[in-house]
Amino acid sequence: MKLAVASGKGGTGKSMVAANLAFTLAWTGQVTLVDCDVEEPNLHLFFPSPATRTEVAVPVPVIEEFACKHCGKCGEFCQYGALTVLPDRVLFFPELCHSCGGCTLVCPKNAIREEPRRIGTLSSSLPIPGLKLVSGTLDTGSPHAVPVIREAKKKVSRDPEVIFDASPGTSCPVIETLDGCDACILVTESTPFGLHDLQLAVDVAARLGVPAGIVINRSDGKDEDTIRFCIDHDLEILMTIPFDREIAAIQSRGDLLCRVRPEWQKDFSALFLKCRTLAGVDQ
Ligand code: SF4
Ligand code: SF4
Repeated sequence: MKLAVASGKGGTGKSMVAANLAFTLAWTGQVTLVDCDVEEPNLHLFFPSPATRTEVAVPVPVIEEFACKHCGKCGEFCQYGALTVLPDRVLFFPELCHSCGGCTLVCPKNAIREEPRRIGTLSSSLPIPGLKLVSGTLDTGSPHAVPVIREAKKKVSRDPEVIFDASPGTSCPVIETLDGCDACILVTESTPFGLHDLQLAVDVAARLGVPAGIVINRSDGKDEDTIRFCIDHDLEILMTIPFDREIAAIQSRGDLLCRVRPEWQKDFSALFLKCRTLAGVDQ
């Protein structure tokens, strides 16, 4: 099963849920945890371990000035504004390029070749028995998170149980992470902002056709609005984690709830089984 953990906004405890779920599953089997929050990966803090790193690169165009006739076709084609054709040269703005390859195809003079440009890294480690951790990291200044996430997903495509920790929000990196998953957990907290952003995340999951369930984190017992929203949208509340000073202290130390208080493992095991049902893999 490919399971995503997402949230409409940051700070809901999404990574905490993903890390505790993976930690619990690793006790009884093999699980792969993928940090798709490539602009700010943090799962390695829960699981410090030596890692092997590989570079992620995307193809970008290189203009062969000797062959270029400055016809302007490549600049007209590029919808991202990455190419500007002047009478005597072509300007290329790599940070705007989406590596679609189209300019190479439309050039009538074969004056464009492609070369790889590094945009980030993937690191892979085995921090505890049963757990493989893959983390994507976008290079500073690189705007293209999606290709790094795509590479991370490709790397684990054959692994049987995979948990993807998405970046917060509902933008392209989240869509790339959720796309093709069997189910997703949406982590929220019962505040007006939390509910607003949950609605956006639910909409994204629905449009991608990914079955979603809800985890309410830091519940103070006043979850009526969230519960009503879930009933109205036929969403199962998979788990409720109470607001608790000790849980907050465990997290702030960078530790795992299920490691410090193993009695929580049965709750995370139950969460995983509900996700399997949600995904339809047990039917
Ligand atoms: S399409 Fe080819 S020949 Fe025309 S401006 Fe671009 S690189 Fe030069
Ligand atoms: S590869 Fe695509 S996005 Fe990049 S410069 Fe060429 S046309 Fe534009």
